Amino acid sequence: MIKLKKIQEALKSIARVAKVLSENGWAEANAGNISFNVSDAIAGEFDDSNPQKQDEDYGFSKNTSILLTSSGSRMREIAEAPEKFCGVLTFLVGKKGYLISKFGQDEFIPTSEYPSHIGIHRYLVNSERFEKAVIHSHPDELIATMHREDFNSENNINFVFKKMHSEFSMLVPDGVGYIPFTEPGSEELASQTLQKLHDHKIVFWKDHGCISIGDNLNSALDNIEIVNKISKIFLLQK
Ligand SMILES: [Zn+2]
Repeated sequence: MIKLKKIQEALKSIARVAKVLSENGWAEANAGNISFNVSDAIAGEFDDSNPQKQDEDYGFSKNTSILLTSSGSRMREIAEAPEKFCGVLTFLVGKKGYLISKFGQDEFIPTSEYPSHIGIHRYLVNSERFEKAVIHSHPDELIATMHREDFNSENNINFVFKKMHSEFSMLVPDGVGYIPFTEPGSEELASQTLQKLHDHKIVFWKDHGCISIGDNLNSALDNIEIVNKISKIFLLQK
């Protein structure tokens, strides 16, 4: 059983991010999802009474526990009571499926974008990268810019962003990744996103939004704030 106090700091961070996403309108209704690797914080504690999807091999190279938001949850509610709308999935080396730990809810169903989140965390863990946080959201101006013809390729987006803001290259040194329209929640979207994250910390999903990674939730949110600000500048000067 995971003790709530062990993930209290992570839950507080998720609540702060959820508040920003909600207040900016970047996660309307039940849109958006957040995950964070809490393996260090829980130090091997997990609930092993609740195995799921035992026919699937998730392939983590070390035991990993991911705190993530639930399917259908609203950011404005997560901001108020994160423990009610988050759970932990634990992946054990050599065992198929995963274990669910929940915190007082009757049921915890992970976000529908969990294939993307889990694929990203597996890649980060297995390649020993430092990022632990993943945020998906729907920033308005970012989505609007992708409807413009000059924003239909990764090269064009990065070229325009550099022109729009002199500090873009410093703030987002790897530039942004871009994926043409792909079905939300699909394995295809998860797979393409993963490829892009080899070289980028934020990836745009056309007609949908973006997904961002960071060492912590604040730095993942920074990426989103920066690219949406630049998108807004682009739209204002047209
Ligand atoms: Zn979405």
